[in-house]
Amino acid sequence: MRRKLKRLLLRVGGREVRCELCGQPLFRARPFVTGGRVKLQGAEDALVAVEFDSMNTLVFRHVEADRCPALRAEP
Ligand SMILES: [Zn+2]
Repeated sequence: MRRKLKRLLLRVGGREVRCELCGQPLFRARPFVTGGRVKLQGAEDALVAVEFDSMNTLVFRHVEADRCPALRAEP
């Protein structure tokens, strides 16, 4: 029941996060600020790389080359 509710909340209020390189969807998430952390509910199972692009912008990318056309295209 809790998983169904979580999935429904993500579907309604979540935002799709896409790979910066290829543009394919990585996961659907809702951000929550808790104390000194920003938690992305919905990103628990995603295998992605993340880094700051600027002081307040995070960039997400595929990790596995077989899932990312842009990574496969690199020499
Ligand atoms: Zn990608």
